[in-house]
Amino acid sequence: MSTRRRIALLGATGSIGASALDVIARHPQRFDVVALSANTQVDELVALCARFRPRVAVIADPSRHSALSRGLSAAGLSTIARAGAEALVEIAGDGDSDTVIAAIVGAAGVSSTLAAARAGKRLLLANKESVVLAGAILMREARTHGAEVLPIDSEHNAIFQCLPPDHAHGGVRRLLLTASGGPFRGRSRESLANITPDQACAHPNWVMGRKISVDSATLMNKGLEVIEAHHLFGLPPERIEVVVHPQSVIHSLVDYVDGSVLAQLGNPDMRTALAHGLAWPERIESGVPPLDLPALAHFDFEKPDTEAFPCLRLAYAALAAGGTAPACLNAANEVAVAAFLAGQLSFLDIPGLIEETLSALPAEPADDLEVLVATDAQARRYAGTALQRMAAR
Ligand code: NAD
Ligand code: MG
Repeated sequence: MSTRRRIALLGATGSIGASALDVIARHPQRFDVVALSANTQVDELVALCARFRPRVAVIADPSRHSALSRGLSAAGLSTIARAGAEALVEIAGDGDSDTVIAAIVGAAGVSSTLAAARAGKRLLLANKESVVLAGAILMREARTHGAEVLPIDSEHNAIFQCLPPDHAHGGVRRLLLTASGGPFRGRSRESLANITPDQACAHPNWVMGRKISVDSATLMNKGLEVIEAHHLFGLPPERIEVVVHPQSVIHSLVDYVDGSVLAQLGNPDMRTALAHGLAWPERIESGVPPLDLPALAHFDFEKPDTEAFPCLRLAYAALAAGGTAPACLNAANEVAVAAFLAGQLSFLDIPGLIEETLSALPAEPADDLEVLVATDAQARRYAGTALQRMAAR
């Protein structure tokens, strides 16, 4: 069997974090957890440290550093307490770990994700916003430093599994990303006026963090995934298509020029992708029950409705515009989703705020991270101001 993997898990207290630790705990002979991080949840992080005994724990919020230190010593743990964004970058890049699970939500994950790529590690990539913001740079750094990028987003993990082993695209006609359609599939735009955050977060097939749940309801999640697929697999947008598949059992497909279409199927449970990434190229138990096809009985497919859900169209447009546009799209979306979850923006105004921000900050060329990070900040400021204007109406 292969050597033990030493894992740094960034975003340990989240939904992906919990699924990753569930798989890791099933294979104590294969995996050591050497670092765990959380944003603000000190008690949850300490509890995970008591269970997985990492050498270091990082709380991103610097004001909670001493609370973390106290919690760890009260629990009798020798885990070192660290805090702040620099500490996240350090545990992603240092020699303690050979594998980094990037499971932070939002562009806040970009520096640590990049640090793992630059350190030439195995990178289990769930943090899709960092790929949308800086995908070209991330893939370039991964190539330069020999990092192994293993997609964890279920669609991208499926495509990774369906591509030829060398990942050359000879013979690939197009990628087909499946979308569940979210909780409001089939509804008209007008009927979505009074959607509440809890309704938007009640996904029919997946249990996920609140930000990605809202993204799934607006279809922005699929838009971010089209951009993610473009960077991960190097195909132009016109060869990346979205098909709605409400059962979420076919996780995505690769269409070859000879007419063969390869798909990866499974129950909608992120532990499959995480087990795949952790053990690749081997296969290990993930805890996911076997697929019961007769119980499912049938699969459905339909076209996405970009009339009711314009966010998918906005993402394709931002990818076509290129340069800073995807960074702008992502930042405006993060502001819009946070405002929606806080009750400050209606569901239908989410795409409006993003579109307004995109047209206020036209795309510019972006070859380095500084430009993209500046765009991210500028788009957040613009969207924040536009939000106040909308609230005052
Ligand atoms: P979540 O909200 O459940 O967890 C996010 C984690 O990141 C938490 O541990 C939190 O403490 C940490 N975090 C949040 N903000 C942070 C910040 N500013 N700095 C440092 N840490 C921070 O989110 P999730 O659903 O687990 O999603 C994580 C990522 O994986 C997202 O990018 C999401 O799009 C992607 N993803 C999730 C799923 C899923 O099933 N949940 C599927 C595919 C992709
Ligand atoms: Mg996905």
